[in-house]
Amino acid sequence: MRGRRAAGAASASASVADQDQNKHEGRTTRRSAKTVVLPCDVKAENNVSVSSVKEDTAVSSSVEDVKPSLPSLASRFKRAEKKKISHRSQEECSVDAKTNVKSQKRNKIVIEYESAVKKEKWEPENWIDTLHNIREMRKSRDAPVDTMGCDKCMDDDAEPQVMRYQALLSLMLSSQTKDVVTHAAMERLRKHGCTIENILKTDDQILEDLIHPVGFKKTKVKYIKRTSEILRDQYNSDIPDTVEKLCGLPGVGPKMAHLCMQSGWGIVTGIGVDTHVHRISNRIGWVPRPTKTPEETRKALEDWLPTDLWQEVNHLLVGFGQQICRPVGPHCGTCSNSKICPYAKSPTKSPRKGSM
Ligand code: SF4
Repeated sequence: MRGRRAAGAASASASVADQDQNKHEGRTTRRSAKTVVLPCDVKAENNVSVSSVKEDTAVSSSVEDVKPSLPSLASRFKRAEKKKISHRSQEECSVDAKTNVKSQKRNKIVIEYESAVKKEKWEPENWIDTLHNIREMRKSRDAPVDTMGCDKCMDDDAEPQVMRYQALLSLMLSSQTKDVVTHAAMERLRKHGCTIENILKTDDQILEDLIHPVGFKKTKVKYIKRTSEILRDQYNSDIPDTVEKLCGLPGVGPKMAHLCMQSGWGIVTGIGVDTHVHRISNRIGWVPRPTKTPEETRKALEDWLPTDLWQEVNHLLVGFGQQICRPVGPHCGTCSNSKICPYAKSPTKSPRKGSM
């Protein structure tokens, strides 16, 4: 009995010692758990490490009270790993998303930049100074176009539709003809009776005599007669009110149509580009590259010149070409643009000289 008691005591003592040790080990385990790196949720829930649990489960149930079983831990560990992976994925997604947002922002900036570049329009260097100088040189308004231009050839006392017909006729006569000649011919026609009905009644030869010395008078008389018939039959003895319809009349081109819309209807539809405007635009560099025809020049000018200058620029440049920037022997020596004009700076080398 004593032995049993001793053995029991020893056993009890050993058990107590084991418990103490286990408790000690449990504390050790808990302490060691603080130093082992585990998935954060496992550490938070159990405050133990897997290696500690393996040792503890063999010796003490008291520690088991506070520790989960291996399968439970393993499954939690797996869940933790999944969470970690999931967390990483979320972080990666988040990073990816941020990267995408950043790249989208960058792309957007690039697109905006590209669109801004595309919107940038060509315009000539120094064009405002050039325009200002021409205005100053044309201040006196004493060029032939100022007093005898096509818009000065109408009978101010006539009916509006008769005035519009006269505006159209003066433009048809002005082609390849000086303003002074056109103006005199229109004066004679007005005295004769410049209405659609009267012109249609007049013999071709008489009309040729009336408009002489206008250039290409035979052809122009034919065009005037055919146009007058169309106006009488299709437009109620008035002129059409669009560029397209005006261009459909015999002998009427885009330059005449745009100018006729201005002088006949008071509507600015485009720049009237004659030989003066064409030549000067090339000399002063108002076209991005040399142009060969007035129509090409008109399109190039309309690409950059502000619309509110379209009406002014025809008269301004025609008079400037009649007085200073003449076709042959331009007066560059006295021109205010000589320091900024490409033609004046390089009169022999300028490619624009070839387009005159
Ligand atoms: S400098 Fe000569 S070419 Fe140039 S605008 Fe004046 S006149 Fe014309």
